[in-house]
Amino acid sequence: MIEHRLKETIRDIHDFPKPGIIFKDITPILKDHQLCSDIVNKFADQCKGLELDAVVGIESRGFLFGFLLANQLGLPFIPIRKQGRLPADTFEQHYDLEYGSASIEIHRDAFKPGARLLVHDDLLATGGTVVATSKLIQQMGGEIAAFAFVINLEFLNGTEKIKPFCDKIFSLVTY
Ligand code: 5GP
Repeated sequence: MIEHRLKETIRDIHDFPKPGIIFKDITPILKDHQLCSDIVNKFADQCKGLELDAVVGIESRGFLFGFLLANQLGLPFIPIRKQGRLPADTFEQHYDLEYGSASIEIHRDAFKPGARLLVHDDLLATGGTVVATSKLIQQMGGEIAAFAFVINLEFLNGTEKIKPFCDKIFSLVTY
């Protein structure tokens, strides 16, 4: 079972990035090429029948499996990046963090209106990052066909926040 193997591999880092937070560290997964392949194959299976046009990955850990998945599916990969890092013309979305705020960007020519997109990140926590991503996609006329996460921290209720954008939500391990 992939969920069991992931739970054995993902490690908890206490007090990162600040006191009181238990961070789910996925870097041990990256050392296990079989597990990496299995993650991508599982996502690819879940995407069957979705008629996707591209995979959208969120900086930076969403690039790891997002790019592999896009490649496996033979689809374009579209990066969502933090403010100021994409070189061409962008659309930008601000969003609130626990303390302060942040901005993410997408290239204006990343996809055509009507494109069916899979949105991927390594982990869903409060949902703020994915909601901001979804607003950018909607603004550009894209259609979110599904969300795919390696980890869903269900106790933070991110699922409820992102459901209005698309209720097809895949995750491989939940806490
Ligand atoms: P949210 O916006 O849903 O609150 O936070 C999700 C974003 O923060 C994702 O981009 C994710 O990579 C990052 N993140 C938040 N907490 C963790 C964590 O415990 N582990 C990892 N790997 N990423 C996290």
